[in-house]
Amino acid sequence: MELDLRFESVHEGILVSGTANVEVTGECGRCLEPLRYEHEVDVQELFFYSDSESLSGEDEELHRVESDSVALEPVLRDAVVTSLPFQPVCRDDCKGLCSECGARLNDDPDHHHEILDPRWSALAGLAGNAAENDAAPKSESDEREES
Ligand SMILES: [Zn+2]
Ligand SMILES: [Zn+2]
Repeated sequence: MELDLRFESVHEGILVSGTANVEVTGECGRCLEPLRYEHEVDVQELFFYSDSESLSGEDEELHRVESDSVALEPVLRDAVVTSLPFQPVCRDDCKGLCSECGARLNDDPDHHHEILDPRWSALAGLAGNAAENDAAPKSESDEREES
């Protein structure tokens, strides 16, 4: 992790701002290929002096300067985690995995499955008939117009 931070003394405490460059590793949310990329996040956090008068018991959320030092780790972790995409992908048009067999569709764009089993085609026919039967009553119109 590379940090480019500035520490400024302000009235209430120390203002830390800058950028953190982190290497993100994970896997593509669609095809599960391993991912590794550089990710830069902006960091800005104010650490309050512990004896600052503006602080009272209810401000547990605030970061503080303790023993003349600041705890950067939780701040950096929050900044990085909240900036990461919910579902990272290896590329925007990643085609993911075949839902039938799990093949990587990026490697084989023409990949598809023919349904050759006659039992399946019989089922497909049943499904077609059911759809036709359902459609019939819906075609009746029941429009009344008052003039
Ligand atoms: Zn992918
Ligand atoms: Zn497949």
